[in-house]
Amino acid sequence: MEICEESGFFHEDFAKFRSDISDSEFRAFSQLENDEQRVRFVHQIVEDRYGGKLWSPVREIGVGKSLAKALEAKERGNSAFQYEKWQESLRCYNDACLLLPAENDQEKAFILANRSAALFHLNKYDLALRDIDRSIQLHYPENMRYKLMERKARCFAALKDLPTALECYRDTFAALSVSNLGEEMLEKKMKETHKMIINLELHIENVKKYLEPVKRGVVKKFVPHVDKSIFFDCTESEGRFARTRNHLKPNCVLLKELPHASVVMSDCSGTHCDQCCSRVEVLFSCPKCVDVVYCSEECLQEGSRGHHAYECGFLPFLRNSGANVVSMLALRIVSQKSEEYFYDMQEQLENLSNDFVDSLPVDDYRKVYNFVTHDEQREAEDYLKWVVMSVLLNTVLVAAGFSKSGSLKG
Ligand SMILES: [Zn+2]
Ligand SMILES: [Zn+2]
Repeated sequence: MEICEESGFFHEDFAKFRSDISDSEFRAFSQLENDEQRVRFVHQIVEDRYGGKLWSPVREIGVGKSLAKALEAKERGNSAFQYEKWQESLRCYNDACLLLPAENDQEKAFILANRSAALFHLNKYDLALRDIDRSIQLHYPENMRYKLMERKARCFAALKDLPTALECYRDTFAALSVSNLGEEMLEKKMKETHKMIINLELHIENVKKYLEPVKRGVVKKFVPHVDKSIFFDCTESEGRFARTRNHLKPNCVLLKELPHASVVMSDCSGTHCDQCCSRVEVLFSCPKCVDVVYCSEECLQEGSRGHHAYECGFLPFLRNSGANVVSMLALRIVSQKSEEYFYDMQEQLENLSNDFVDSLPVDDYRKVYNFVTHDEQREAEDYLKWVVMSVLLNTVLVAAGFSKSGSLKG
């Protein structure tokens, strides 16, 4: 299994590292018995020969963000909107969100407000409401707020939540009194809104007995599933695997389980959520980088508190290195937890029984610790490459402050 692309700098750096190692050192390395010994061995060489540093990655914060470019994208969105190209305007507002530097709350409020209008026209009312609320939180100007309140009312009306729509029209009416509209326009808008309120009150009165509580935005919860015909088996060479007793029909779902760790390949990093891997329709951006995107505020928060706290700013370095999905997964398995998590678990890693591992939740590291790796079939050359890649990944963790105890440096 390869661990890097040939185009990345790791490939060349490794070739140089390999040529710096004497025959006797390599022989000593090939006689080592476990990963811990191999990692210590290579670390010692790095310490003695390269002063402890093979690479010195620098965290790139804010690189790629630009207020001017964000405003350009917003303008493109506005002109697409004027031509009723809703999908294109959504795409431009997404770009604007990605490019906007962190400290521009007011601009963000405008972009989200405009995006909510595009979403409204695309009949994506729940998503539009989410953007409106966020825009208000970010202090969208008071004297223009009537626009957002009216859009909110229309969204709720479209979602058949008439009582909430009525409430929002009342809020629109109140917001108009502090608006920046000229006298004539203000009067016209107030009349229209008042009419909507009266109509809606009458309508609600008429259909009262038919009104049902509105169910909205129900997020489907993931439910793991194992088909009854499935049982688990194990051999020394293949590790654990699933078998079935029955003939399987096409389209039968055998197994549904969340992954222990997942990464978005770099060519999908602009289109798929870095936290849940789903395709991003309405983009949420990391405030510090343009290297990942998120599908929701929840995924953004979860990612920023979890693995992205360590990976943010280092993804260009990792991508340029050529580290492929296997290497990135190895990093993610570590970066999604904390150093203490692994220390606390260290002594429990030996003698894990299969039954015990089966009872653990999917995000428990012990779930993947005992995977069969076929390491006895691996050549020393190959091992060396894996260990040097682990040095590269470790370099990022150290630079990112993952190790509070400093032990990763040794
Ligand atoms: Zn997501
Ligand atoms: Zn970031």
